[in-house]
Amino acid sequence: MTHLDLRSIRLRPGEEHRDEQEVELQPIVLGGQRYVPVPEKAASELVVTRATTGTVFELRLRVRLHGPCYRCLEDAVLERELALREYQAERPGGSEELTTPYVSEGRLDLSAWARDALALALPEKILCRPDCAGLCPVCGRDLNREPHRHEQELSDPRWAALGELRERL
Ligand SMILES: [Zn+2]
Ligand SMILES: [Zn+2]
Repeated sequence: MTHLDLRSIRLRPGEEHRDEQEVELQPIVLGGQRYVPVPEKAASELVVTRATTGTVFELRLRVRLHGPCYRCLEDAVLERELALREYQAERPGGSEELTTPYVSEGRLDLSAWARDALALALPEKILCRPDCAGLCPVCGRDLNREPHRHEQELSDPRWAALGELRERL
């Protein structure tokens, strides 16, 4: 997983550090299905700014997830652009708002940060397209490729009666 060693960048108040980083992402499970980041490492831009009382971390990245469509199980692709911001106070004093959970022991966990933000940015269901017709509940065939209905007349008694009438003619 991708970390940034904060000890490697020593900033004085007012200074900033910019970095192009490749952030390794783990697959995400949503609705029982697995969605894989492609590429596995997302290109990102990281800006670390030292303020007088703490440090601001900003991360921008574009992520593409590949996985099955919730309705038809064909390939679906989802793209998200994330612009994230975290703050770590110099002396947090126990307040959670002034610390980021992604900094520990002098390291910023970029993978965990990006993954959590991505999970929050996902829709409830990932579809191949917004109007995906899904699979036929009767025969299981893909209704996008083969739009069809199962003719109810096969079992409809009115049609059966018509059939009998036709036989008699
Ligand atoms: Zn679909
Ligand atoms: Zn069918």
